[in-house]
Amino acid sequence: MQAGHAVCLDAKIEMGSRAELRAVQEERFQVMQRHAYEHSPLMRRKFDSVGLRPSDLPDLSHLPKLPFVTKDELRESQVAVPPYGDFMGVPVEKCLRIHQTSATTGRPLLVLDAWEDWRGLYLAYARALYAAGVRPADMAMPAFSFGPWIGFWLSVYALQEIGALLYPSGGMSTEQRLDTLLTYPITVVGCTPSYALYMIEQARRKGIDLATQSKVRLTFHTGEPGASIAGTKRRLQEGFGALAFDLPGLTEVVLWGFECAEQSGKLHLNEDYCYCEILDPESGAEAPPGDVGELVVTNLFRKSLPLLRYRTRDLVRRAAEPCPCGRTLACIDGGIIGRLDDMKKVRGVIVYPSRVEEAVRRFEAADEFQIIFRRRQGLDDILVRVDPSPTLAEEERQHLRQRMSAELRNELGLRVSVEIVASGSLPRFEHKARRVVDERTEVPF
Ligand SMILES: [Zn+2]
Repeated sequence: MQAGHAVCLDAKIEMGSRAELRAVQEERFQVMQRHAYEHSPLMRRKFDSVGLRPSDLPDLSHLPKLPFVTKDELRESQVAVPPYGDFMGVPVEKCLRIHQTSATTGRPLLVLDAWEDWRGLYLAYARALYAAGVRPADMAMPAFSFGPWIGFWLSVYALQEIGALLYPSGGMSTEQRLDTLLTYPITVVGCTPSYALYMIEQARRKGIDLATQSKVRLTFHTGEPGASIAGTKRRLQEGFGALAFDLPGLTEVVLWGFECAEQSGKLHLNEDYCYCEILDPESGAEAPPGDVGELVVTNLFRKSLPLLRYRTRDLVRRAAEPCPCGRTLACIDGGIIGRLDDMKKVRGVIVYPSRVEEAVRRFEAADEFQIIFRRRQGLDDILVRVDPSPTLAEEERQHLRQRMSAELRNELGLRVSVEIVASGSLPRFEHKARRVVDERTEVPF
């Protein structure tokens, strides 16, 4: 057994020296950039567009010479060369898995993986689950749908890699899943944060307290950043009586980060699977520790998707201090601070819906919410609709509205209208939530 195995699945990578990690990254980068140039037409065009060849990038310090790759380019490639596009690095015949992104707008992106790619993807996931504390003695229920979305399948393979007892609930209804949680000694549950809150709420409506009546001790969450939003995390933890962990990642990249059992507020980066740049959105230069930047990742293992300098559109903050767990992998403070795609501008102020969620979730009495960006008398305005707990008395509704207005104003630095709607009237989400509505006909940028 390796030193550090008690807390790490890959102690050599997770706890090794930075120099050793850098050597691994450099070696993998050389393999990957040559592979990308030789096998991916889209990536070859990227090199050609700046007149470079792989030999011009002898190490990772030269990486910024390459242009970025965006998700739109991958989508456009799949439109121009249907159905898979021209960015793949291995022939379709060698692939064994196909998944698609859960696009909220536009066409979903199809991604295919050959065996070694798939193995890397689920090993990165297994590392994350193990770091959170999942062990062979656990019984785990991934509560994702088992369609073409990658989350369910990765969690199944990762749990199998760890050796936990798997209870697959891909095709079950919420009612069946709740019944299963009361019937079997399931200790680990994985799902989107929105769905976890929905399960907690549905259980309560049936008079079930999952915190005391289930055996769940740990929950893991992907698909949305909720488990790193303080108020949401607390709700998840209290609702299940368990520790909740955030596993951020992208279908077309890898699970790029994970939260360890220390729950120090920092997330580790899976730097051997992807080389991470955190770039200032204005200057494009590496953001210093403590500053917010966009995460740009260079794939170091996935030959089917040999993407170099892929823009994740996720804003993160590189941590200035290491995590107390002892891992040497780089850290970010908190999870995804905001997504560039979700960014809204209201009366000149930048607003991320995650900040609204942060404020709303501080109120126990708010079960669900919706954010509406609208224009009234020529001025941008934010309306937050709040679906209150069914136990909230009529006279308390007004009080909740006032307190939440004040909290949101404090959080965003903007006046926000709050409306308390009928309990149970806003939509609930079994996958990723769609809580933001932008009614403005023209967005001012
Ligand atoms: Zn840690």
